[in-house]
Amino acid sequence: MPELPEVEVTRRSFADRIAGAQVLQLRLGKPLRWPLGCEPQALAGRQVRGVRRRGKYLLVDLDAGLLLVHLGMSGSLSFQDAPPPPGLHDHFDLVTSRGTLRLNDPRRFGALVHAPSEDAPVARKLLGGLGVEPLEADFDPQVFHAGLRLRRAPIKQVLLAGDLVVGVGNIYASEALFLAGIRPTTRACRISLERATRLHAAIRQVLARAVEKGGSTLRDFSNAWGESGYFQLEAMVYDREGEPCRVCGQAVRRMLQGQRATYFCGTCQR
Ligand SMILES: [Zn+2]
Repeated sequence: MPELPEVEVTRRSFADRIAGAQVLQLRLGKPLRWPLGCEPQALAGRQVRGVRRRGKYLLVDLDAGLLLVHLGMSGSLSFQDAPPPPGLHDHFDLVTSRGTLRLNDPRRFGALVHAPSEDAPVARKLLGGLGVEPLEADFDPQVFHAGLRLRRAPIKQVLLAGDLVVGVGNIYASEALFLAGIRPTTRACRISLERATRLHAAIRQVLARAVEKGGSTLRDFSNAWGESGYFQLEAMVYDREGEPCRVCGQAVRRMLQGQRATYFCGTCQR
Protein backbone atom coordinates (compact mmCIF):
# COMPACT_ATOMS: atom_id res chain seq x y z
CA MET A 1 0.00 0.00 0.00
CA PRO A 2 1.47 3.41 -0.88
CA GLU A 3 2.38 5.19 2.35
CA LEU A 4 3.34 8.79 3.07
CA PRO A 5 6.86 8.59 1.60
CA GLU A 6 5.63 7.07 -1.64
CA VAL A 7 2.94 9.73 -1.93
CA GLU A 8 5.49 12.48 -1.25
CA VAL A 9 7.92 10.99 -3.77
CA THR A 10 5.09 10.84 -6.30
CA ARG A 11 4.25 14.48 -5.60
CA ARG A 12 7.83 15.58 -6.13
CA SER A 13 8.11 13.60 -9.33
CA PHE A 14 5.50 15.66 -11.18
CA ALA A 15 4.63 18.78 -9.13
CA ASP A 16 7.11 21.06 -10.89
CA ARG A 17 6.20 19.79 -14.31
CA ILE A 18 2.44 20.19 -13.96
CA ALA A 19 2.46 23.58 -12.18
CA GLY A 20 1.12 26.26 -14.52
CA ALA A 21 -0.41 23.76 -16.93
CA GLN A 22 -3.89 24.23 -18.31
CA VAL A 23 -6.38 21.38 -17.97
CA LEU A 24 -7.55 20.34 -21.42
CA GLN A 25 -9.73 17.37 -20.53
CA LEU A 26 -10.46 14.83 -17.83
CA ARG A 27 -11.12 11.29 -19.03
CA LEU A 28 -12.61 8.91 -16.50
CA GLY A 29 -12.51 5.13 -16.66
CA LYS A 30 -14.18 2.73 -14.27
CA PRO A 31 -15.67 4.18 -11.08
CA LEU A 32 -13.18 4.77 -8.28
CA ARG A 33 -13.78 4.74 -4.55
CA TRP A 34 -15.76 7.99 -4.51
CA PRO A 35 -17.46 10.02 -7.24
CA LEU A 36 -15.60 12.95 -8.81
CA GLY A 37 -18.12 15.45 -7.50
CA CYS A 38 -18.42 17.59 -10.63
CA GLU A 39 -18.87 17.16 -14.36
CA PRO A 40 -15.49 16.29 -15.91
CA GLN A 41 -16.07 18.98 -18.58
CA ALA A 42 -16.18 21.63 -15.83
CA LEU A 43 -12.44 21.17 -15.32
CA ALA A 44 -11.46 22.06 -18.89
CA GLY A 45 -9.68 25.41 -18.99
CA ARG A 46 -8.71 25.39 -15.32
CA GLN A 47 -5.09 26.16 -14.51
CA VAL A 48 -2.99 23.97 -12.20
CA ARG A 49 -1.42 26.13 -9.51
CA GLY A 50 0.62 23.42 -7.76
CA VAL A 51 0.50 20.10 -5.95
CA ARG A 52 0.56 19.73 -2.17
CA ARG A 53 0.31 16.68 0.06
CA ARG A 54 -1.80 16.20 3.18
CA GLY A 55 -1.41 12.77 4.74
CA LYS A 56 -1.72 10.37 1.84
CA TYR A 57 -3.77 12.76 -0.27
CA LEU A 58 -2.30 14.78 -3.09
CA LEU A 59 -4.02 18.13 -3.47
CA VAL A 60 -3.87 19.45 -7.00
CA ASP A 61 -4.65 23.14 -6.59
CA LEU A 62 -6.50 24.71 -9.49
CA ASP A 63 -7.19 28.39 -10.10
CA ALA A 64 -10.70 27.54 -8.86
CA GLY A 65 -11.12 24.59 -6.52
CA LEU A 66 -8.85 21.60 -6.13
CA LEU A 67 -8.58 17.91 -6.92
CA LEU A 68 -7.88 15.39 -4.17
CA VAL A 69 -6.08 12.29 -5.36
CA HIS A 70 -5.62 9.14 -3.26
CA LEU A 71 -3.61 6.14 -4.42
CA GLY A 72 -5.67 3.66 -2.39
CA MET A 73 -4.16 0.20 -1.95
CA SER A 74 -2.35 -0.20 -5.22
CA GLY A 75 -2.49 3.04 -7.19
CA SER A 76 0.35 4.85 -8.89
CA LEU A 77 0.41 8.05 -10.90
CA SER A 78 2.31 8.70 -14.06
CA PHE A 79 2.81 12.05 -15.79
CA GLN A 80 3.71 11.65 -19.43
CA ASP A 81 3.83 13.81 -22.54
CA ALA A 82 1.97 11.35 -24.72
CA PRO A 83 0.85 8.24 -22.86
CA PRO A 84 -0.30 5.11 -24.70
CA PRO A 85 -4.07 4.49 -24.83
CA PRO A 86 -5.49 3.75 -21.37
CA GLY A 87 -5.21 0.12 -20.27
CA LEU A 88 -7.51 -2.01 -18.15
CA HIS A 89 -6.30 -0.53 -14.86
CA ASP A 90 -5.94 3.12 -15.96
CA HIS A 91 -8.85 4.91 -14.33
CA PHE A 92 -8.34 8.58 -15.09
CA ASP A 93 -6.35 10.78 -17.42
CA LEU A 94 -6.04 14.43 -16.48
CA VAL A 95 -4.89 15.79 -19.82
CA THR A 96 -3.06 19.11 -19.49
CA SER A 97 -1.07 21.40 -21.73
CA ARG A 98 2.12 19.98 -20.16
CA GLY A 99 1.30 16.28 -20.07
CA THR A 100 -1.18 13.71 -18.88
CA LEU A 101 -1.55 12.67 -15.25
CA ARG A 102 -2.77 9.07 -15.19
CA LEU A 103 -3.87 6.86 -12.32
CA ASN A 104 -3.14 3.16 -12.67
CA ASP A 105 -4.86 1.24 -9.92
CA PRO A 106 -5.50 -2.51 -10.26
CA ARG A 107 -7.56 -2.71 -7.05
CA ARG A 108 -9.49 0.55 -7.57
CA PHE A 109 -9.43 1.80 -3.98
CA GLY A 110 -7.91 5.01 -5.29
CA ALA A 111 -9.86 8.22 -5.66
CA LEU A 112 -10.13 11.47 -7.58
CA VAL A 113 -12.43 13.99 -5.95
CA HIS A 114 -13.09 17.60 -6.86
CA ALA A 115 -13.77 20.12 -4.12
CA PRO A 116 -14.69 23.77 -4.61
CA SER A 117 -12.29 24.63 -1.77
CA GLU A 118 -10.44 23.00 1.10
CA ASP A 119 -13.22 24.15 3.41
CA ALA A 120 -15.93 22.47 1.34
CA PRO A 121 -17.70 19.58 3.11
CA VAL A 122 -16.26 16.93 0.81
CA ALA A 123 -12.68 18.10 1.47
CA ARG A 124 -13.27 18.40 5.19
CA LYS A 125 -14.70 14.91 5.25
CA LEU A 126 -11.55 13.46 3.68
CA LEU A 127 -8.93 15.67 5.34
CA GLY A 128 -10.60 16.74 8.58
CA GLY A 129 -9.64 13.80 10.83
CA LEU A 130 -5.97 13.77 9.90
CA GLY A 131 -3.31 14.22 12.56
CA VAL A 132 -0.29 16.47 12.33
CA GLU A 133 2.19 16.09 9.46
CA PRO A 134 5.23 14.20 10.79
CA LEU A 135 7.78 16.02 8.65
CA GLU A 136 6.47 19.51 9.43
CA ALA A 137 7.59 21.77 12.26
CA ASP A 138 4.28 21.52 14.12
CA PHE A 139 4.98 17.84 14.89
CA ASP A 140 6.35 18.60 18.33
CA PRO A 141 7.70 16.01 20.84
CA GLN A 142 5.86 17.47 23.83
CA VAL A 143 2.55 17.73 22.02
CA PHE A 144 3.11 14.20 20.70
CA HIS A 145 3.74 12.93 24.22
CA ALA A 146 0.63 14.69 25.52
CA GLY A 147 -1.39 12.97 22.78
CA LEU A 148 0.08 9.57 23.67
CA ARG A 149 -0.88 10.03 27.31
CA LEU A 150 -4.54 10.22 26.30
CA ARG A 151 -4.45 6.91 24.44
CA ARG A 152 -4.54 3.50 26.08
CA ALA A 153 -4.12 1.41 22.91
CA PRO A 154 -0.79 -0.22 22.00
CA ILE A 155 1.61 2.36 20.56
CA LYS A 156 1.78 0.65 17.17
CA GLN A 157 -2.01 0.88 16.79
CA VAL A 158 -1.96 4.53 17.85
CA LEU A 159 0.59 5.33 15.17
CA LEU A 160 -1.39 3.49 12.49
CA ALA A 161 -4.65 5.23 13.46
CA GLY A 162 -3.32 8.48 11.99
CA ASP A 163 -5.36 10.85 14.13
CA LEU A 164 -2.40 11.85 16.31
CA VAL A 165 0.27 11.91 13.63
CA VAL A 166 -0.56 11.11 10.04
CA GLY A 167 1.20 8.87 7.54
CA VAL A 168 3.07 6.47 9.83
CA GLY A 169 1.98 3.28 8.10
CA ASN A 170 2.79 -0.31 8.94
CA ILE A 171 6.37 -0.45 7.69
CA TYR A 172 7.38 2.90 9.17
CA ALA A 173 5.70 2.25 12.51
CA SER A 174 7.66 -1.00 12.91
CA GLU A 175 10.91 0.66 11.90
CA ALA A 176 10.45 3.77 14.07
CA LEU A 177 9.54 1.70 17.14
CA PHE A 178 12.68 -0.37 16.63
CA LEU A 179 14.87 2.74 16.37
CA ALA A 180 13.26 4.16 19.50
CA GLY A 181 13.66 0.85 21.40
CA ILE A 182 9.95 0.65 22.19
CA ARG A 183 7.97 -2.62 22.17
CA PRO A 184 5.02 -2.24 19.73
CA THR A 185 2.57 -3.58 22.33
CA THR A 186 3.42 -0.90 24.91
CA ARG A 187 0.36 1.12 25.84
CA ALA A 188 0.77 4.63 24.41
CA CYS A 189 -0.22 6.27 27.70
CA ARG A 190 2.67 4.56 29.49
CA ILE A 191 5.44 5.97 27.31
CA SER A 192 7.59 8.54 29.10
CA LEU A 193 8.41 11.94 27.63
CA GLU A 194 11.98 10.79 27.08
CA ARG A 195 10.89 7.73 25.11
CA ALA A 196 8.22 9.71 23.24
CA THR A 197 10.91 12.18 22.23
CA ARG A 198 13.05 9.33 20.90
CA LEU A 199 10.06 7.94 19.00
CA HIS A 200 9.29 11.37 17.58
CA ALA A 201 12.85 11.63 16.24
CA ALA A 202 12.71 8.05 14.92
CA ILE A 203 9.46 8.68 13.02
CA ARG A 204 10.97 11.69 11.33
CA GLN A 205 14.15 9.81 10.57
CA VAL A 206 12.52 6.79 8.91
CA LEU A 207 10.05 8.87 6.90
CA ALA A 208 12.63 11.43 5.76
CA ARG A 209 15.01 8.64 4.80
CA ALA A 210 12.32 6.80 2.86
CA VAL A 211 11.43 9.99 0.96
CA GLU A 212 15.11 10.58 0.21
CA LYS A 213 15.47 6.97 -0.97
CA GLY A 214 12.51 7.25 -3.29
CA GLY A 215 9.76 5.71 -1.20
CA SER A 216 9.59 2.13 0.02
CA THR A 217 9.10 -1.00 -1.34
CA LEU A 218 6.09 -2.28 -2.56
CA ARG A 219 5.92 -4.55 -5.49
CA ASP A 220 3.39 -2.37 -7.22
CA PHE A 221 4.63 1.09 -6.30
CA SER A 222 6.37 3.32 -8.79
CA ASN A 223 6.65 7.11 -8.89
CA ALA A 224 5.44 9.25 -11.75
CA TRP A 225 8.69 8.56 -13.61
CA GLY A 226 7.96 4.83 -13.44
CA GLU A 227 10.84 4.15 -11.04
CA SER A 228 10.40 1.97 -7.98
CA GLY A 229 11.71 2.68 -4.49
CA TYR A 230 14.05 0.51 -2.49
CA PHE A 231 13.65 1.48 1.16
CA GLN A 232 12.61 -2.04 2.14
CA LEU A 233 16.01 -3.41 1.18
CA GLU A 234 17.49 -1.77 4.24
CA ALA A 235 14.69 -2.28 6.78
CA MET A 236 15.87 -3.01 10.33
CA VAL A 237 12.97 -5.29 11.29
CA TYR A 238 10.11 -5.03 8.81
CA ASP A 239 9.57 -8.32 6.91
CA ARG A 240 12.68 -9.85 8.56
CA GLU A 241 11.09 -12.52 10.78
CA GLY A 242 13.70 -15.02 11.97
CA GLU A 243 16.62 -13.01 10.56
CA PRO A 244 19.22 -11.64 12.98
CA CYS A 245 18.57 -8.20 14.47
CA ARG A 246 21.05 -5.82 12.90
CA VAL A 247 21.95 -4.47 16.36
CA CYS A 248 22.01 -7.45 18.76
CA GLY A 249 21.86 -10.52 16.51
CA GLN A 250 18.73 -12.05 18.12
CA ALA A 251 16.07 -13.31 15.71
CA VAL A 252 13.55 -10.66 14.65
CA ARG A 253 10.05 -11.60 15.80
CA ARG A 254 6.69 -11.22 14.09
CA MET A 255 3.26 -10.84 15.63
CA LEU A 256 -0.19 -9.69 14.55
CA GLN A 257 -1.70 -6.49 15.88
CA GLY A 258 -5.15 -5.62 14.56
CA GLN A 259 -4.66 -7.96 11.57
CA ARG A 260 -1.40 -6.23 10.62
CA ALA A 261 2.01 -7.85 10.87
CA THR A 262 4.34 -6.23 13.37
CA TYR A 263 8.07 -6.99 13.42
CA PHE A 264 10.26 -6.28 16.42
CA CYS A 265 13.35 -7.35 18.35
CA GLY A 266 12.48 -8.75 21.78
CA THR A 267 15.88 -7.70 23.10
CA CYS A 268 16.28 -4.20 21.72
CA GLN A 269 12.65 -3.14 22.24
CA ARG A 270 11.22 -2.88 25.75
ZN1 LIG B 1 18.00 -6.49 18.71
